[in-house]
Amino acid sequence: VSVERAEALALDAADPLASFRDAFVITDPQRIYADGNSLGRLPRAVAAVITDAMHEWGDRIVEAWDGWIDLPTRVGDRLAAVCLGAQPDEVVACDSTTVNLYKLVHAACDLREGAIVTDRANFPTDRYVLEGLAGSRGRRLVLADSVADALAVPDAAVVCLSHVDYRSGEALDMAALTRTTEALVVWDLSHSVGAIEIDCSTIDLAVGCSYKYLNAGPGGPAFLFVRRALADAMRSPIQGWFGQHEQFAMGPRYDPLPGAARFLAGSPPVLGLLALDASLDLLADAGMPQIARKGRALTSLAATLADDWLAPLGFTLATPRDPAARGSHVALRHADAWPICRALIERANVVPDFRRPDIVRLGFPPLYTRFADVWDAMDRLRGLVAAGEHHHVDPRARRVT
Ligand SMILES: *Cc1c(COP(=O)(O)O)cnc(C)c1O
Repeated sequence: VSVERAEALALDAADPLASFRDAFVITDPQRIYADGNSLGRLPRAVAAVITDAMHEWGDRIVEAWDGWIDLPTRVGDRLAAVCLGAQPDEVVACDSTTVNLYKLVHAACDLREGAIVTDRANFPTDRYVLEGLAGSRGRRLVLADSVADALAVPDAAVVCLSHVDYRSGEALDMAALTRTTEALVVWDLSHSVGAIEIDCSTIDLAVGCSYKYLNAGPGGPAFLFVRRALADAMRSPIQGWFGQHEQFAMGPRYDPLPGAARFLAGSPPVLGLLALDASLDLLADAGMPQIARKGRALTSLAATLADDWLAPLGFTLATPRDPAARGSHVALRHADAWPICRALIERANVVPDFRRPDIVRLGFPPLYTRFADVWDAMDRLRGLVAAGEHHHVDPRARRVT
């Protein structure tokens, strides 16, 4: 064997973040959950926070809004400090990533003439939003063949890129790439936030979600980042009362708040914001540098084992080999990726996910993934494919993959 299981156990014994696993609900200790990059695990503290909120609602009813009303900016500021390297007033937690992208790109089009650009491999919702905006704003849509091509479009107004590619796991250098273009670059941080270090001081605009590495739960609120110097020149296409100066003055005209808060629209999802706030306690305690360091070590172990054990079984590593050039998941290409994913779940108690056409994605969120989990996941995957077990699962497609 290339790496003994004992070596993985030794890495766990020396792991400064090992104790954070106990902060999460784990109902089946045998199951290896490698899909936290799709829906993060439930932090134990969230259940208590939601129960408290139920009491608040039940007891204080509308009076409780006093403590909830500023959650989008309060949680946004925390997210800025803990995970994004952003300043106060530059981040708000609200809506979905999709809606936030719409708002920012729409507003960015007011500042720049020219095309709306992304790369063909970008996340589907981003491409759909941009396609719609290009139509409604009368802009040319460019779906470039690569990120480099996207950044080279001469008349680009807005370029939308993902920091970490949701399929391959490749991480881009946001600062360097933002500098290469006159266009406004909107970064989608959904697959990097809470997984690797982010420095928003080098970029202009960003969006991202909270239910992956931020563990805020299904439908948890997304966020948006607007560099302070840009914010006051931008206008949200949704002029809602939560973005209004002195909201409860209920004045006659829309007069947007300064900073990112002007992009708030309607009543915030209070329960989701409280969950995100509680989850951020864990990320703050652990610290993003430590989290990112462990993530690189986990994915490095996976990459080594993939080369040694899985390459002979027809797998290729689709994730960059340089640990600094990836997020916290690895992508393995295989012609039978779909039945392999089903077999992993049904027969090996490992939860990955499948991305068309041929990718088995294994996410290793550093706060609750052990090195032994990575070793065991790769070992179970190797055993299952070597035995041909993936030929014995129901190959029908599912609505959620
Ligand atoms: C998960 C993800 C989203 C999700 O968008 P929602 O509107 O929150 O559903 C968007 N972009 C990327 C890159 C993602 O990985």
